Amino acid sequence: MLDSNLQATLDGVLARNPGEPEFHQAVHEVFDSLSLVQERHPEYNDMGILTRLCEPERQIIFRVPWVDDRGEVQVNRGFRVEFNSALGPYKGGLRFRSNVNLGIVKFLGFEQIFKNSLTGLPIGGGKGGSDFDPAGKSDGEVMRFCQSFMSELYRHIGEYTDVPAGDIGVGAREIGYLFGQYKRLTNKYETVLTGKGLDWGGSLVRTEATGYGATIFAQEMLSARGTSLEGRRVSVSGSGNVAIYAIEKVHQLGGIAITASDSTGYVVDEDGIDLELLKQIKEVERGRISTYAERRGGRSRFVAGGSVWDVPVDVALPCATQNELHEKHAKTLVENGVIAVSEGANMPSTPTAVEIFQEAGIAYGPGKAANAGGVATSALEMQQNASRDTWSFEYTEGRLTDIMKGIHQNTLETAEEFGRPGNYVVGANVAGFRKVADAMIAFGVI
Ligand code: GLU
Repeated sequence: MLDSNLQATLDGVLARNPGEPEFHQAVHEVFDSLSLVQERHPEYNDMGILTRLCEPERQIIFRVPWVDDRGEVQVNRGFRVEFNSALGPYKGGLRFRSNVNLGIVKFLGFEQIFKNSLTGLPIGGGKGGSDFDPAGKSDGEVMRFCQSFMSELYRHIGEYTDVPAGDIGVGAREIGYLFGQYKRLTNKYETVLTGKGLDWGGSLVRTEATGYGATIFAQEMLSARGTSLEGRRVSVSGSGNVAIYAIEKVHQLGGIAITASDSTGYVVDEDGIDLELLKQIKEVERGRISTYAERRGGRSRFVAGGSVWDVPVDVALPCATQNELHEKHAKTLVENGVIAVSEGANMPSTPTAVEIFQEAGIAYGPGKAANAGGVATSALEMQQNASRDTWSFEYTEGRLTDIMKGIHQNTLETAEEFGRPGNYVVGANVAGFRKVADAMIAFGVI
C-alpha cells in the first residue's frame, strides 16, 4: 500500500503517460519500494523529487529515412530519452527492434537511472533506439540506416552530454557505423559511444560484461546464503550477447548452463551448452537456435515454442527481454526447486512472477542490480578513453567483479536497513534512488 502522497504522485505519472504499460510497470515497482524511504525522508516529497524523476529531462523523437537494397525508401522512427543527468552524462543503450516505441524506451531509460547510480560511477540515465530491426537486413542496409539515424542523433549527444551504447539489435557492427557517421559529421574522435571495437577505443570485457555480471551477481546471492554455483544446473534464456557470456561465466564458476533460446524455441543440452558452437551460430552466422541441436547431437534437443522455464534447474538467468518470465513460469521454477534468479535482461520477470519468487523466499536479483555490469564496463571504457589508455582483460574484469560485488553488498545492506532483509528489489530501488535524489536536492529545482 502506498501512502496518499505517493499514490497521488503515481496516479499523476500514469495519467500523464497513457498507453505506456512497460513504463507504468517500471515506475510502479520503484514507488512500491520507495514508500519505505518517504517516511524517513520527507524532504524528497517536499522537493518534488519523484514527480521530477518520472519526467524525462528531454525526449527526442525523429524520422529515420533510408533506402533499402531494392532502391525503395523506408521510414523508421528514432528515439532518445535523456532521462536524468543528476549523476553524470546520460548513459544507456540503443535498442533496434520492431517493437520499440516511446513507452519501451522510457521504461528502459527509467530503469537505467537507478542501475547506473548503483554502479557507483558518474553516469546519468538515458535510453534510445528505433523500430528498425537489423535481423534479415544486409550489412549495407544496416549501414545506411545507422548513418541516417546518427545524422539526427549527433546534435543531441556528446562526451559530456549523452553517451549511448548497444542493447538488443545493436552490437559492434551497428556501433561501428554509428561512430563512423558521428566522427564524420563532427570531425571529433570523442567518447560519444561505448561498446566500440577494440581497435578503435573499445574496452576489453565490454562484450562479456552484462552476462558475466549477471552470473557474478547470482554467485554473490548464493554465497550470502552459504552456497555457490558449483555443480548447479542453470537455465539461461536468450542467445544474444548477454546470454552467451552469462553461460560462459556459469561454466567458469563450476556450474552447468543447460539451455539457450530465441524467438523460435529453446535448446536443452544435458552436457552443458557448447559455447563455441553457440557463438559460431549466433555471433558469426546469425542463425537460429534449432541449428544448435542439429549440429551438437548427443544429449541436446530443440523444443519449438514452449518455455525454457519448464526445464528443472537450481538457478535461472533470464537474459532475453522484458516480461519474458510470467506467473506460470515462476510457479514452475519454484515447484522445480529453483534457489536463485538473476536477471541479465531488463525487467524480464512480470510483477506477479517477482511476487512468487519473493514469497517462495528464493534469492531474486532484479535486472537493475544484476545486469549493471554492462553499463558499468561502459563507464570503464569512458575512463580508458579519457586517459588515452587501454587496460588488460584481467584488470578490467577485476574492476567489473568488484563493482558487481559492491552492488550486491550495497543492495543487501540497504534492504536490511529498510526492514526488508534479503529483498534485492527494495535494496536496489532505494540505494539507486537515494544517490540520485540527494544530488537533485543539491542542484535545486531544475
Ligand atoms: N544496454 C545496456 C543496459 O541495459 C548497456 C548500456 C550501456 O552500456 O550504456 O544497461
